[in-house]
Amino acid sequence: MTWETIAKTDAERAFAALTDPDAGRAAFDWDQAAEMLDGLPGGGLNIAYEALDRHVAHGNGDRLALRWFGKDGDARDFTYADLARATARFANVLRHNGLQAGDRLYSLMGRKPELYIAALGTLKAGLVFSPLFSAFGPEPIRTRMEIGEANAVVTTESIYRRKIAKWRDEIPSLKTVFLVDVDDAPEGCVALGPALAAASEEFEVAATQPEDMALIHFTSGTTGRPKGAVHVHQAVYAHVATGRFALNLRPGAIYWCTADPGWVTGTSYGIISPLVNGATMLVDEAEFDLDRWYGMLEREKVEIWYTAPTAIRMMMRAGAEAAAPYDFSNLQFLASVGEPLNPEGVVWGKEVFGHPFHDNWWQTETGGIMIANLAAMDIKPGSMGKPLPGIEAGVVDSGSDPLRECATGEIGELALRPGWPSMMRTYLHEQARYDKTFRDGWYLSGDLAMKDEDGYFWFVGRADDLIKSSGHLIGPFEVESALIEHEAVAEAGVIGLPDETAGEVVKAYVSLNPGYEPSEELERDIRGHARKKLGPAVAPREVVFRNTLPKTRSGKIMRRLLKARELGLPEGDISTLETDES
Ligand code: ATP
Ligand code: MG
Repeated sequence: MTWETIAKTDAERAFAALTDPDAGRAAFDWDQAAEMLDGLPGGGLNIAYEALDRHVAHGNGDRLALRWFGKDGDARDFTYADLARATARFANVLRHNGLQAGDRLYSLMGRKPELYIAALGTLKAGLVFSPLFSAFGPEPIRTRMEIGEANAVVTTESIYRRKIAKWRDEIPSLKTVFLVDVDDAPEGCVALGPALAAASEEFEVAATQPEDMALIHFTSGTTGRPKGAVHVHQAVYAHVATGRFALNLRPGAIYWCTADPGWVTGTSYGIISPLVNGATMLVDEAEFDLDRWYGMLEREKVEIWYTAPTAIRMMMRAGAEAAAPYDFSNLQFLASVGEPLNPEGVVWGKEVFGHPFHDNWWQTETGGIMIANLAAMDIKPGSMGKPLPGIEAGVVDSGSDPLRECATGEIGELALRPGWPSMMRTYLHEQARYDKTFRDGWYLSGDLAMKDEDGYFWFVGRADDLIKSSGHLIGPFEVESALIEHEAVAEAGVIGLPDETAGEVVKAYVSLNPGYEPSEELERDIRGHARKKLGPAVAPREVVFRNTLPKTRSGKIMRRLLKARELGLPEGDISTLETDES
């Protein structure tokens, strides 16, 4: 692709946590991450202790930890000491209700303060925390609770009645239901508010060990049935180091991660990483709203902002004019994750916010950021950047036995050398599947990528999404990025369809920017634009218009669903589907 490299200014380099990323990478080992933290006073390691109590012990309890904004205009502030006390109360409530270290607590609610208190209070008590999206329907909730053998859930009365009450008794492990919004709980449930009020603020943090299970995260379900990835307390080494290197989190930095904790990003970088780094995190209970978001960036003087391509494309769709009235001068660093970030989005960030978006890559399985564009690195728009300190990444030919490392520029499977602290320890009840992801000393990610001569990694597509047409290997990302450069196109999803002569042909689904209407002429124009950018062999044969594209709750385009629907095949697991108008 022909986007100019964005060179970093001296100020941007000076702001970076790693001013010389290549040297920083060479000098780093994970013991240094351990040194960024304290460990438990009596031995052991606990994420919640590192996130909260450590700061209090160091005399920083008065620093603002969480500034929360409610849907309806209310707001609440919590210092590190406030959260340390609130989570101690929560941990005591767990104990009073018979829950023990190792038990599993699920959360199922919107981004309310109680969610954050529950997450850290659960870890403090030595229980395992598993966050779910509150918008999941009863079946996805039930399946995930069965897979993870839930012992307790924290939720709202309405969610409980609508989505859990009916089948609750059929999950034998599920002992306790905490309701956050009632004073008198219905039978079989505990009213959390009064219980917290009655509980002590003193709690000795559970003496968890580095390898004790801490978190169960379900994958987004983009490519199939979601998997339950298990993470341990030691993951906090990765949370602290990657947050510092890839997001420049530092004590007192004003930081906003827009992800919901139901998606791994919203827990690793929406709770743990900012707090272990001593930052001030903002949380907005409301969903995306352009003016609300721009207003938040300006009013709260956000310095570091971590969001996702789907939101960036929504902002782009509204145009730079919508952003013009706002003052974004406090922003210092912008990052994006979850899907490939089209080069146009990277550059748009620079135009509108004064800084490019820094794309980074990781997965539920990896627990933390693995490959990133760092603040001090020049950005090649469309590239995911380079491996972080402590991470060795490669591109391998997974068709060869033993695995062969690909040459520069050659497309292969993105692989990582196992051994970083936040690597999943298993997929729950799917040990064989977990084992299969490791071969010849590599962890295989299931994504396709290539590495260029400067060591930058470029995302090509999911291994399942690669299109083979007339001898060409076509990654959907490249085609989608070319399509959204057309002035009319807001989003694009690209799939391969079986074809007798070509093997497969490329078909694109696009949604349009405001002011454009679907027409045959526009379709021809978009195809012409793509042909010019990509050449006739790679450009889509057909472009169809959609109001929205099917996406997961974490905002990822579900190409497998576009394909299944096109071919009249079973839709498979759609428990994480969010928009469904296609
Ligand atoms: P499932 O594994 O259930 O199909 P999922 O892979 O979408 O769902 P996540 O773990 O939330 O679940 O997402 C990780 C995947 O998201 C990566 O493997 C990759 O395909 C994609 N991804 C994340 N960040 C990036 C990025 N910066 N560029 C390209 N793709 C990305
Ligand atoms: Mg995946």
